[in-house]
Amino acid sequence: AAPPSLAGIQASQLQKTLTTSPKPILPKEDLVFGHTFSDHMLTVDWTSTKGWEKPQIKPYGPLSLDPSCSVFHYAFECFEGLKAYRDAQGNIRLFRPDMNMVRMNSSAERLYLPQFEGKEVLECIKELLRTDERWIPEGKGYSLYLRPTLISTENTLGVHCANKAMLYVIASPCGPYFKTGFKAISLYCDENNVRAWPGGVGNRKLGANYAPSVGPQVAAEKKGYQQVLWTIGEDFELMEVGTMNMFVYWRNEAGEVELITPPLDGTILPGITRDSILELTRTWGEFKVSERKINMRQIAKASQDGRLLEIFGAGTACVVTPVKRIHFQGTDYNIPLDPTNPDAQAGPVTDRIYQTLFGIQYGDVPSKWSVVV
Ligand code: PMP
Repeated sequence: AAPPSLAGIQASQLQKTLTTSPKPILPKEDLVFGHTFSDHMLTVDWTSTKGWEKPQIKPYGPLSLDPSCSVFHYAFECFEGLKAYRDAQGNIRLFRPDMNMVRMNSSAERLYLPQFEGKEVLECIKELLRTDERWIPEGKGYSLYLRPTLISTENTLGVHCANKAMLYVIASPCGPYFKTGFKAISLYCDENNVRAWPGGVGNRKLGANYAPSVGPQVAAEKKGYQQVLWTIGEDFELMEVGTMNMFVYWRNEAGEVELITPPLDGTILPGITRDSILELTRTWGEFKVSERKINMRQIAKASQDGRLLEIFGAGTACVVTPVKRIHFQGTDYNIPLDPTNPDAQAGPVTDRIYQTLFGIQYGDVPSKWSVVV
């Protein structure tokens, strides 16, 4: 059961304190992901006795927290990631932001942190965007990355539920993931480390899921691979690719052309890009679309049989990232990109999904998923 939340978050009570020293905007070519932050942030405090306080927009800056706060000791933290895009008409757009609110509440619930009215927080985020509008870079591929975060500010030791918490949102301008067209990546299937497991928290966006992934990621890079392929079990069932959901487009054992992604069995983060790709490709109705388990042994066999068509990762950062190679138990399996074009860095289905979702995000393809701020 969720902890009681007394007063709810009310966007109508939002209070604003503007910075007196606005920062210079970096030339957008110099942007490095997550290095620059806009002038303001949104914060909302919560206590178990009063519930949510009035939301505040205030100058971006350090938080002052007791070293005893349980966020520092027991990882009472969850977060979200979404982008604000500027369309050709100059409007600000968000992509399915309601889903980020739902997912954040699901993460909060698992940590026994307070839940909130997603609609109200979204209204506050929109006001942050209007306040920091000049920080949303123009141009295709450019965006303002938003990082909603929820932490325990309970300043007592002992593993117990938080009586104080803070929700905040910071914003970071970022450039295109692929500066010069797609760049296909290679994966290292990690046989020793497991990202998430049945009964665990892989389906929630908890900070605690990410810190332990860095060591295996560095190890994969040292071996010459760009991302970890996370698997589980004796047959190495596919889970995720780095911090992306995974898709396999292949001709299955029955000879059908099929797009597969692992099912949301509690070990997989319910990606918003993942959900969008499933709905989009089901609408196309051109091939079978399945949420079901698939393992590395099946991938290796399909590679040997020439049945693999395309593999890609999917997430907010990149929309999709094509995969060109997978290392598994001492063997590198080459994954086809575009059989008709030896120079291509993505297969036709990967490319079409990318173009469609990218078009929706920037308002060029009309869709209910794109929300004008
Ligand atoms: N898996 C993991 C582990 C992630 O961190 C992310 C990024 N949030 C994703 C998948 C993709 O999710 P989304 O499409 O919502 O960005």
